[in-house]
Amino acid sequence: MDIDIESDAGDFGVEDYAARMEAAARAAADAGLAGVLIAPGPDLVHLTGYRPADTERLTVLVLAAGQEPVLVVPALEAPDAAEAVGAGALTLREWTDGKNPYAAAAPLLDAGGRFAVSDNTWALHLLGLQRELPATGYVPLTDALPLLRAVKDTRELARLAAAGAAADAAYGEILRVRFAGRRETDVAADLADLLRAHGHSQVDFTVVGSGPNGANPHHEAGDRVIGHGDMVVLDFGGLAHGYGSDISRTVHVGEPTAEEQLVHDLVRRAQQAAFEAVRPGIACQEVDRAAREVIAEAGYGERFIHRTGHGIGVTTHEPPYMVEGEEQPLLPGMCFSIEPGIYLPGRFGVRIEDIVTVTEDGGRRFNHAPRELALVE
Ligand code: ZN
Ligand code: ZN
Ligand code: ZN
Repeated sequence: MDIDIESDAGDFGVEDYAARMEAAARAAADAGLAGVLIAPGPDLVHLTGYRPADTERLTVLVLAAGQEPVLVVPALEAPDAAEAVGAGALTLREWTDGKNPYAAAAPLLDAGGRFAVSDNTWALHLLGLQRELPATGYVPLTDALPLLRAVKDTRELARLAAAGAAADAAYGEILRVRFAGRRETDVAADLADLLRAHGHSQVDFTVVGSGPNGANPHHEAGDRVIGHGDMVVLDFGGLAHGYGSDISRTVHVGEPTAEEQLVHDLVRRAQQAAFEAVRPGIACQEVDRAAREVIAEAGYGERFIHRTGHGIGVTTHEPPYMVEGEEQPLLPGMCFSIEPGIYLPGRFGVRIEDIVTVTEDGGRRFNHAPRELALVE
């Protein structure tokens, strides 16, 4: 699929944000809730296009069925909020320093209602609202409305595809840089530059895990000097046109040993098996099981120590999660990573990751960079 962001994706307009806010309020009512409270973060971006700094001053979007959307905002930030595309579909309610911001928000809330509150809302603010309205109750947004951002529309899919293509291009170019004799942080800096050169406005992570560092899935990049014979896990991504990329490939400096090649082939087969499991209606955990089964059969089950994947959208990590116990059925338009790995402590690790979307008849990848073990210098 060729992606032309300008013609295929277009810009999100005020009517898009109005529709999203209305749908969220309706979904909350259907779930028996009085409304939705949204703090700065990905949900606010999705619902309004407003991306304020997340500070100690209360900013909260209040959505309730049959009520106009209201954004409670510090007076000094109101001019910025008014510039957001979605601001045309909501009312701003300002509060000024020295006043009680929770008293400004309270009249907008059903004093006895239960609200879905965005996962990243500061405890400071939630406790402030509870103090003001002691009879209100709160549930995490992800639990209450798990599908709020999970199913992407055509324009969002075009952005995610473009972000994936940009990450693929960055991978293609990193294969040509020197690895041996340079620090992980040097290669990580190259990856960040390449993501930006290919249209990313934000780089979220650039993992370079060489040799034994690759066996730690949480390792980012350190001072270790990459040597000949090292396996190197590369895992990088960020935001392009407001949507996420996240890709992992594992490369080898020089010729691999038979065992390194075997482990890499195994992870690749597991990744393929999970991809082939994707279709509407199956539970998220089935994607995890498909990858895990391949690795367990070969005797490495204990060394696959994380979930198989996570959702992606206006952030690089979000629900739904491809993990045992997640029974959410896949729906067309969901987008998530498939990233099995094998980690051999003290030695090396392998991870292979693509972003995949669910279509009516299966999965479609947003990453097409070769998955074979690439040899670098
Ligand atoms: Zn090696
Ligand atoms: Zn990743
Ligand atoms: Zn990932």
